[in-house]
Amino acid sequence: MSRIAQLPNHLINQIAAGEVVERPANALKEILENSLDAGASQVSVEITGGGIKLIRVTDNGSGIHADDLPLALSRHATSKIKNLSDLEHVRSMGFRGEGLASIASVSRLTLTSRTAELPHAHEIRAEDGVLSPIAAASHPIGTTVEVCELFFNTPARRQFLKSENTEYAHCATMLERLALANPQVAFSLKNNGKSVFNYPAQTLAQRVGTIVGEDFQAACLPVDSGENILRVHGFVSKPTFAKGKSDMQFCFVNNRFVRDKVILHAVKQAYRDVLHNQIVPAFVLFLDIPPELVDVNVHPTKTEVRFRDSQAVHQLIFHNLNKVLAETRADVTDSVSN
Ligand code: ADP
Ligand code: MG
Repeated sequence: MSRIAQLPNHLINQIAAGEVVERPANALKEILENSLDAGASQVSVEITGGGIKLIRVTDNGSGIHADDLPLALSRHATSKIKNLSDLEHVRSMGFRGEGLASIASVSRLTLTSRTAELPHAHEIRAEDGVLSPIAAASHPIGTTVEVCELFFNTPARRQFLKSENTEYAHCATMLERLALANPQVAFSLKNNGKSVFNYPAQTLAQRVGTIVGEDFQAACLPVDSGENILRVHGFVSKPTFAKGKSDMQFCFVNNRFVRDKVILHAVKQAYRDVLHNQIVPAFVLFLDIPPELVDVNVHPTKTEVRFRDSQAVHQLIFHNLNKVLAETRADVTDSVSN
């Protein structure tokens, strides 16, 4: 048997990157979530070559203190939690302190940032696990993360990527989910130098119209269980809305996009009696739940969650959707009988 040896940090980061960043869209998600956690009201995204050549995100959030720049790129270093109790009540999108370290270990990354306290910005570069010295830079208050040549040093991972168009499409989908959950934030996207969209700060209803479609927005039913320990709110399609597609189904738990069987099952059940087989409901649903009643720490990418009481979640969603759908049925019956 070989003797046991501690792995070098850079390799540990690359192994972690395998879980967190499978493709450019995951890197983009980590970077965007940091911008949102930093309270940005404006986020611009530039993508080149499907995000493999370049992902550049600029925000006007709180920025990173110059002295903390190396820490921002270090594994298990975070400003978001300090202890177990923070972890159990976490409301920020990130908290593992591995997003940037993972991305930096598999790309050439430049982090430029300025906080309100300092008169100018600073930047740091990472390449193949080596950090540059911190240098003065020019940048307004906020942060720019530039990721070049993703997976340049992990060719096996690079080979699993699809075409640039497909990778770009995944990035755009990721951005749309985050934009939907954060309508108060302005987002812009450029692909290969061309502007794709420029969303101003909007209300949720406006953002739903922009992203899910004006025809959905015009014809959907609002859902709101009201403020309570558990709350569901959002918009669901009328049973007569025949254009629903599975990519028009969005669930967010505490503002985090998730794929969750409990929620999907409850929605399906609510529509069971009102929808014909081929019609797919479209919906944008937000579940607000105290952080201690849900575990978002199931998987590094956090798209899966575990509820402490999944039956309560199921009932809440089923009951509220069933109610608004039954009202439309009553409307139809009324108008037929009149
Ligand atoms: P996490 O988000 O889990 O804390 P990351 O590796 O994504 O870990 O980021 C590390 C730290 O860098 C964050 O905790 C935050 O303090 C800082 N940071 C990263 N991106 C930004 C940003 N856009 N604006 C402000 N701070 C940032
Ligand atoms: Mg993060």
